[in-house]
Amino acid sequence: MAGIYFHIPFCKKACHYCDFHFSTSLHQLYPLLQALETEIVLRKNYLSEPIDTIYFGGGTPSLIPPAAIQHLLEIVNANFSVSASAEITLEANPDDITAEQVTAWKMAGLNRMSVGVQSFHPHLLQWMNRAHDANQSVEAISLLQKGGFENISLDLIYGCPNQSDESLEQDVRETLALGVPHVSCYALTSEPNTALWHMIKKGETPQIQSEQQARQFILLMEWMQSAGYEHYEISNFSLPHQRSQHNSAYWKGVPYLGIGPSAHSFNGNEREWNISNNAGYIESIGKGMIPSTKEILTATQQVNEYIMTTLRTMEGISLVQIANRFGDVIPNQIMLDAQPWIREELLEWKNQHLILTRAGKLMADRIAADLFREEPEL
Ligand code: SF4
Repeated sequence: MAGIYFHIPFCKKACHYCDFHFSTSLHQLYPLLQALETEIVLRKNYLSEPIDTIYFGGGTPSLIPPAAIQHLLEIVNANFSVSASAEITLEANPDDITAEQVTAWKMAGLNRMSVGVQSFHPHLLQWMNRAHDANQSVEAISLLQKGGFENISLDLIYGCPNQSDESLEQDVRETLALGVPHVSCYALTSEPNTALWHMIKKGETPQIQSEQQARQFILLMEWMQSAGYEHYEISNFSLPHQRSQHNSAYWKGVPYLGIGPSAHSFNGNEREWNISNNAGYIESIGKGMIPSTKEILTATQQVNEYIMTTLRTMEGISLVQIANRFGDVIPNQIMLDAQPWIREELLEWKNQHLILTRAGKLMADRIAADLFREEPEL
């Protein structure tokens, strides 16, 4: 089992909170598409396992012509062994979704769409500097459903300074009314050097309040779970059997290949990330060189990565898997460190797994850091 991720580094507008790699100028679009095609061929030996998931993320992949998506998929098929039932997802923004695009995406072979709705409130969309309005989101989901896409995910943002609990509840109600099987909910963060970060620094917008974010996260868990959605990962809810296969594979430590500027790859014990610069990427790939930095993970880093990713999932950390991969000593140490969290009912021990309780989900990063192992002294 393995996955391929494409990073499409173009957007119409820069959302104020975003720190992903993208450009709002499309003048390098075609050289970049050409470079993506070349990188696929250069990397054809990176994964030995069959490809079960392909994901177009970004940036805004819905900005590029569907024929280009189809062409990239053809090159992947010619160079890798892709499972007949592979999940193939495209991230799309509502303002790019038209009936013609939907038909073309279907023909290209996509079978899952992830739509960046974020909110149905005009004032919030404007505040975030999103390129779409609320009506476009409703219309976009309906077009996708009419065009035969059943597997749709919708993104929401919570914890914005000017977002009340009532407005979030309305967003969730509108989302549920659309009948999508998967919803990702992200807490707003202020990343250094984003427009939001500068706005907060200059006092142009209020600070993000952690109490409000915690309260809204609890509300989201209640609303989504009572609507029948599994909270299968901290930021992700799905109807039964509708989880994102691509993201689930990341959390299980499955190898993946990242194609495009800033894309990350992982082959089990080595992590690699491409340069976050479109011109530099195009130039290097043009010379037949992959512009990436590599890091070989130590056994301790692999354990910590496993703790970090699996603790966020509803199945939690399997100490049996850790024992199988890294020996019996580490699970015993983790179990010792877990005791205070279990006593405080933030973690529970169930079927040989350490699982976050609902209250524990509010402190996932802190608990993970406490369970991390330290590098042995030389
Ligand atoms: S559309 Fe997505 S990638 Fe582009 S700026 Fe907005 S949040 Fe970032």
